[in-house]
Amino acid sequence: MASFATMDVASIQAGLKAGEFSAREVAEDALARVEAADKQVHAFLEVTPELALAAADKVDAARAAGTLDACGPLAGVPVAFKDNMNLAGTHTTCASRMLENYVSPYTATCVQRVLDAGALPLGKLNMDEFAFGSSTETSAFGTTGNPWDLSRVPGGSSGGSAAAVAAGMCTVTLGSDTGGSIRQPGCFCGVVAVKPTYGVVSRYGVVAFGSSLDQVGPFARTVRDAALTMNALAGRDPLDCTSQHVTCDFTANLDKGVDGMRIGVVPEFMNARGLQPEVKAKIEEVVAKLEGMGARIEEVALPNVHAAISAYYVLGPCEAFSNLARFDSVRYGYCDPGHKDLGGQYEASRSRGFGPEARRRIMLGSYLLSSGVYDKYYYPAQQVRTLITRDYAQAYEKVDCILAPAAPRTAFKFGEISEPAEMYLSDMYTISINIAGNGGMNMPVGLGAQSGLPVGAQLIGPAFKDENMLRVAAALETVYGAAPVAPDFAPAKAGE
Ligand code: GLN
Repeated sequence: MASFATMDVASIQAGLKAGEFSAREVAEDALARVEAADKQVHAFLEVTPELALAAADKVDAARAAGTLDACGPLAGVPVAFKDNMNLAGTHTTCASRMLENYVSPYTATCVQRVLDAGALPLGKLNMDEFAFGSSTETSAFGTTGNPWDLSRVPGGSSGGSAAAVAAGMCTVTLGSDTGGSIRQPGCFCGVVAVKPTYGVVSRYGVVAFGSSLDQVGPFARTVRDAALTMNALAGRDPLDCTSQHVTCDFTANLDKGVDGMRIGVVPEFMNARGLQPEVKAKIEEVVAKLEGMGARIEEVALPNVHAAISAYYVLGPCEAFSNLARFDSVRYGYCDPGHKDLGGQYEASRSRGFGPEARRRIMLGSYLLSSGVYDKYYYPAQQVRTLITRDYAQAYEKVDCILAPAAPRTAFKFGEISEPAEMYLSDMYTISINIAGNGGMNMPVGLGAQSGLPVGAQLIGPAFKDENMLRVAAALETVYGAAPVAPDFAPAKAGE
């Protein structure tokens, strides 16, 4: 069989249906690719061949019985999950020493829905520790390379999820996004990456970072594959009270084009300091292409968006501080041995179990929520949140979708950014969308003229209208093509 690495969901399923190959062959091919490519990329923290083969055998049994269609929309599709998502029987480490030995006793709803759709689970993917970061460098278990240039970061925190798709090891992966962790790595690795509106996907079983900001979404090489995965993921889950009833078909508008759509461009974004000229040039090119396809481009103002990073680095650490309090070495997490009193055990376990960025966030959150300080920072940050949410709502009175860069620059080298405050700027184009709660996605739009690395356009949609941004992304895909597997990992080069 041809390597599945160049196939989309529809072609895998067509091949299965026509009897050209079995799901077991797809699983074996995928596992062999992981074995070969991951030596260099290191996207996986755990590979689960037994689970992948068992799922494949189920799909093959359905094929034999003539009931393949009942297997679900992702039948036979190789997938993997960010390591903050529980999958029963696997380690869920959040790339932290704190959870190094934690084995999931249950499965997250998002993972279960993808498995129920017939997908083949290859394993768990590297990330920044507890999803704190923008480069996957804070993982306690080593870095992940960007398949386009292994001396560069894949972005983060879902770096493993983006790299696994870009290196052709998976057709679809899941990541989570609290301030940009799906879109920014999607941008750096040149793959489609969707952060749905808050509440579209259940967070049950996903280790919490910022509970009012976290959202799960897919990575894929085509917009349709991402939309199909959204169909599997979306909807109300009684186990997450913030999840909503969502009945839309995310693939419904993909072929409609952008003729007559109103697309917003934000001067505050396009003129921001720190926007790399090659990224700006690409986004301007995208504007022209969309206009050429019949879209109406409108300038929209987001006057408070400049305060988004400051607000996020108050709200995020406060929520993280509270969520991470459960890792107390008693019920969960690393337990430092030999302490006679509980206070000593807590202190040693938490200082040794958490890495430097996690400790920084915990200390920040603990300070920001202390009495006297709380009023000075937490309240104003919540007020800023309201203003930014209002800015977006007003913009959507004028436009159906907003276009922006996904990140201010292309992928940087390992160690290039060592200042936390500078790293925090990686998310300058994504954070305000988590604050407002609406959806955003990265759409790869080719390579930067100077760096030769992937550049991403971010499409931002009104809350619970994620089909708008997918529609624009699908139109751009007709111009820029589906995301390729990174050249060094393309099957032909690997001799397959
Ligand atoms: N990079 C941002 C942070 O470090 C966002 C992370 C995320 O979305 N999980 O907090």
